Amino acid sequence: MRIGRTLPPAAAPIGIAEIFAGLRGLLRGQAELERFRSELQQHFGVRHCYLVSSGRAALTLALQALKELQPGRDEVLIPAFTCYTVPSAVIRAGLKVRLCDLRPGAFDFDFARLAGMLSGASGTGRLLAVVPTHLFGFPADVAQVRSLLQDSGVAVVEDAAQAMGEAWQGRKLGALGDIGFFSLGRGKALSAVEGGVLLTDCDDVAAVLDRRMAGLPRYGWPKLLGLIAAAAALVLLTRPSLFWIPRALPFLRLGETRFETGFPILRMSPLQAGLTARWRERLEGMRAARQANAARWAAILENAGARELCFGDSRAHGLLRFPLRLRDAGRKRALLRASTRAGAGIMPAYLASINQLAQLGGEFPAQAYPAAEACARELVTLPTHGYVTPADVARIRRLLACVLEAA
Ligand SMILES: *Cc1c(COP(=O)(O)O)cnc(C)c1O
Repeated sequence: MRIGRTLPPAAAPIGIAEIFAGLRGLLRGQAELERFRSELQQHFGVRHCYLVSSGRAALTLALQALKELQPGRDEVLIPAFTCYTVPSAVIRAGLKVRLCDLRPGAFDFDFARLAGMLSGASGTGRLLAVVPTHLFGFPADVAQVRSLLQDSGVAVVEDAAQAMGEAWQGRKLGALGDIGFFSLGRGKALSAVEGGVLLTDCDDVAAVLDRRMAGLPRYGWPKLLGLIAAAAALVLLTRPSLFWIPRALPFLRLGETRFETGFPILRMSPLQAGLTARWRERLEGMRAARQANAARWAAILENAGARELCFGDSRAHGLLRFPLRLRDAGRKRALLRASTRAGAGIMPAYLASINQLAQLGGEFPAQAYPAAEACARELVTLPTHGYVTPADVARIRRLLACVLEAA
């Protein structure tokens, strides 16, 4: 266990000012939710916006609404390497998971495979939705998914959980699919402790969602008090000077994502909406810091002659974490161990690809998703958030040099 300055792997800081804004939001009630909702609608240029308790709740609601509109379809196609909450939401919505592998060296679909999977009525006949995903903030090619699905009746649900505030060819991520969603969870671009945002321009989907939202439970007082306590803890404990404390508490299971279908699906509380006060300025500031740090890591790896360890155009985006691949398992382990000792915030990504999740019953053929499995095996991520100082950069550069030299 390390006592002392420790970088969190990801951080979207909440300050005292946001706590007060959250409490004020609680007093303002519905008006605060309306404020956040209309700001989002205007910013993303969409007609409909829904505020709920998490990204996974948003995805579940989106899929349930689509299913109600097209009861004959029951499959959802997702990337074979993504957050475990995504298949959790598919199962929660009573639907079946289909997987497409990633393009090697990227986090987007392998489009040759995707085109093969979608060809003909057998490919799309039972398919309800495809979920392109902006993992770490790298823009996925939503337009290409759309063009493959033309006239098939299959919806594009854009997973922008990790990409709020990012853009692709000048267009804001989250507003490119038929439906898009963001997460306001702890490790995301903007945090309200927890929360989810659903965007859509489809009036038929919105009509179903309007009705379903009205039937959703609200946060009760025990849960609200828990959120206030969690927000207060986040103000203090995500700081590098104190992050070693939650890090040392194993029951918090920080950084772990689990496949779990019993999550609550609630309307967002006015407290959470209040915590998002000044979200556009804050998001832009945090994004700029992440992009600068991502560009720093890209330059360091390039200068070390290790560009092939990076993904895509790592400099161009405000990445939530900076992924790099280490093929040698021993070297990867050594880097993670050294980072834990130094409190450097280097972490693996998801440790399994979706086809490897035992909870999905091993229904996927072995070895069928080599790129996704390689990501699970090889990825480590460097922190990009605004708490990373020049001294941290120097420290992490030295840790990286050790692994790269050994190559
Ligand atoms: C975090 C995340 C989600 C789910 O968001 P929660 O708010 O944690 O439920 C979905 N997809 C991706 C890619 C995510 O990173």
